[in-house]
Parts: sequence; C-alpha cells; structure tokens
Amino acid sequence: MAGLDPFTEDHQAFRRIVRDFCEKELAPHARAWDAAAEFPRALFRTFGEMGFFGIRHPPEWGGSGLGWWYVVAYAEELVRCRNAGLAMAMLVHGEIAIPVIAELGTDEQKREFLAPAIRGERIAALAISEPDAGSDVAAIRTTARRDGDDVVVNGAKTWITNGARADFLTLAVRTGGEGHEGLSLLLFPTDTPGFHVSRTLEKVGNPSSDTVLLFFEDCRVPARWLLGEENQGFYHLMANFQGERLVAAVQAVAGMQLMVEDAMRYAQERTAFGRPLARMQVWRHRLAEHLTAIEAARWLTYRACDLLERGEPAVKEISMAKLFACDLAQEVAYDCMQLHGGMGYVFETDIARAWRDVRVMTIAGGTSEIMKEIISRAAGL
Ligand SMILES: Cc1cc2nc3c(=O)[nH]c(=O)nc-3n(C[C@H](O)[C@H](O)[C@H](O)COP(=O)(O)OP(=O)(O)OC[C@H]3O[C@@H](n4cnc5c(N)ncnc54)[C@H](O)[C@@H]3O)c2cc1C
Repeated sequence: MAGLDPFTEDHQAFRRIVRDFCEKELAPHARAWDAAAEFPRALFRTFGEMGFFGIRHPPEWGGSGLGWWYVVAYAEELVRCRNAGLAMAMLVHGEIAIPVIAELGTDEQKREFLAPAIRGERIAALAISEPDAGSDVAAIRTTARRDGDDVVVNGAKTWITNGARADFLTLAVRTGGEGHEGLSLLLFPTDTPGFHVSRTLEKVGNPSSDTVLLFFEDCRVPARWLLGEENQGFYHLMANFQGERLVAAVQAVAGMQLMVEDAMRYAQERTAFGRPLARMQVWRHRLAEHLTAIEAARWLTYRACDLLERGEPAVKEISMAKLFACDLAQEVAYDCMQLHGGMGYVFETDIARAWRDVRVMTIAGGTSEIMKEIISRAAGL
C-alpha cells in the first residue's frame, strides 16, 4: 500500500469508467430488471468487452493482468448499478467461478473455459452447495465416478447463482472417500446430457439474479475437465473463498456508503415540524455513528486486501472483514430506511431495495457464524 491510500491515479481512472457505466447504462434499468426478475443476458458480453471479467487474469487469456486493488475499485463502483442481483451475478461469474481456473487450470481448460468466460461469451457458475450441505462443505454428496476417460456425475446442487444461464459450472464433486479429502473440482459444461435445471428459487432479495436447484443424472464429462489436484478440491475451494469473501466485504462497505449518502441527501430535502430531518440531532448522530463504523469496516477490508495482494496469510482478516461489514450493513440499511419514513418502504426508493437485498450478505459465501468459527480458530480458541 502506498502510504495509506491504496489507489493510484490509474486505479481512480478505472474506477471512473466503472462508475460512469453503472450510473448511465445500468442504474436507469435497475427497477425494471428487478420487476422482470432478470436482466439482459447480453450484459455478460458487455462486461466482458469492458474488461471487467479479466481484471486479474493473464493477458494471454484475454485478461488485464492487474492486481486486487483494481478488483476492489470495480466491486466498489458496481453497487452504483443499484441492482444487487446484477452485481451478484457478475461477481459470481468473474470473481468467484473463474479465478480458480486461472489459478489451477491446464492450458486446454483455460482455452475452453477461462478465455470465453473473460470475454463474457460463456457464463459461469460456482456450484458447491447442496440440499444437505451448505456451511459444511466437506459433507457434499454429488459424486463423480471414473469410467474410462470420463467421469460420471450424479447428485444435486442448490442456491446456485447464474445456474439457469450458465454455460458451464465450476462444480464441487466427491471423487474419493468421505470428508475433506474426497472432494475435487470439475469443469462441467451444462449441455451435458442428464443435466437438469430445476425451478428458479423465489428469493427474499436480489430478484434479478437467477438462483436455482440443479440435478445431475449419469452426466458423462471428460476426466480431463477435472480441475486442480484430484481429491484436493476442498483446499482449492477454501483458497477460492478468500477472494469471494473479500469481494463480499467490499460490496457491503460500498453499499453502506451509498445508503448513507442517499440518507444524507434525503435528510436535507425532507422537512418535518418545520425543519429538515438533517437538523435533528438524533439523525445527525445516527448517521455520524454509521459513517464512523463504515470507515472502520472499509479499513479492515483494505487491510485484508493488502495482505492478499502481498501474498501474506489473510484468512483471519478476510473473515473479519466479511463478518464485520456484512453484519453492519444490516443495521445501516435498517436506519437509512427508517430515516426515509414511508418513502423507505416503496421500491421506487433505492433504500427499500437495498434493505431487502442486503439481507443475503450474512448468509451467502459463508455465514456470519462460520466467519466467527474461522476467526476463533485462527485466534487459537
Ligand atoms: C442468494 C444466494 C445465493 C447463493 N449462491 C450460491 C452459489 O452461487 N453457489 C453455491 O455453491 N452456494 C450458493 N449459496 C449457498 C450459500 O453459500 C449457503 O446458503 C451458505 O453457505 C449457508 O449454507 P446453508 O444455507 O446450507 O445453511 P446451513 O449450513 O444449514 O446453516 C444454517 C444455520 O446454521 C448456522 N451454522 C451452521 N454451522 C454452524 C456452526 N458450525 N456453528 C454455528 N452455526 C452454524 C449457519 O450459520 C446458519 O445460520 C447461495 C445462497 C443464497 C441465499
């Protein structure tokens, strides 16, 4: 980190491109896409063309070969699209499902899956969770059994973001015995016979992202699509979770910042009892408390990013950042909505949708309770 500000002029120029795009091209459609419970598939191509899916990936595969701070700038600005489902779908594709291919893939796997995903031509999902295994990743039961040069997949996955649209899955499968040691990752094309997408789950929030239940019935996939070391999938997944959780923390902080900015603007405009809400000390102090806590969350997140960028151990700090920022976002959303009064309860107001959508942040990508488990273990408890 250069001084205390991690962002150079180049980062800020990139940030402005993302912000401009989100505010001008995406935000005007945010409500319509929520109402339709989907956004245009073509946006994956647009994001690909803008280079948003290849920020850290090698230029050889179409990426920009940049560092984590560009990802932070991207994720921070993405909240300004005002559609959390869209932001989630894009981050799942670019920052959650494909980095592990860049990390561990063979050249053939990178050519087949990574490069077209970076271009936004093939949509990716990460499929780990199952009806009977969410937090307990080591308990997953979907199997991939060797048969000649293929593996044959059987089982089910649930809550899979982008699952209905995905062209391929980065799929967690059991290739060995029970527990941590028996898991592997498999790149799974979704046009494989025997693969079924079940109903799209009707969620509390993020309505524009598709979240589905998937079934695998004797799906035959070339064994060369196994990703990374066989039976080491659990460890590959745990490493991959670090980027996912950092990005979740970044999104939570940026989302809170936006909610408070909106609340401050509303508090200047709205009057009650002959004066703006902003002149009421109770609201000034509440917002001051939140601004302070958000700043603390931001720097905890930046500290975690700094460690990750320098290749230092960062599991504890990333878990702390996700826990703190995602829990705090619930309180900030509640208060910012309350400040808007009745306007906060109608979806035409951004805070109403943000309050609804922020709820998932303490659940997806590892719950707050699991973050506490990781932190307490790291602290020697
Ligand atoms: C909108 C959405 C999108 C998602 N997208 C994806 C995706 O793209 N890919 C994917 O694979 N998964 C996805 N998930 C799944 C998500 O990762 C899981 O929901 C999450 O990991 C929690 O698992 P679970 O729902 O099975 O809860 P459970 O593991 O059943 O936990 C239930 C409750 O018990 C608590 N708990 C569990 N274990 C402990 C413990 N040891 N100590 C204390 N408390 C504990 C949990 O914190 C939670 O409060 C998504 C989920 C949602 C809601």
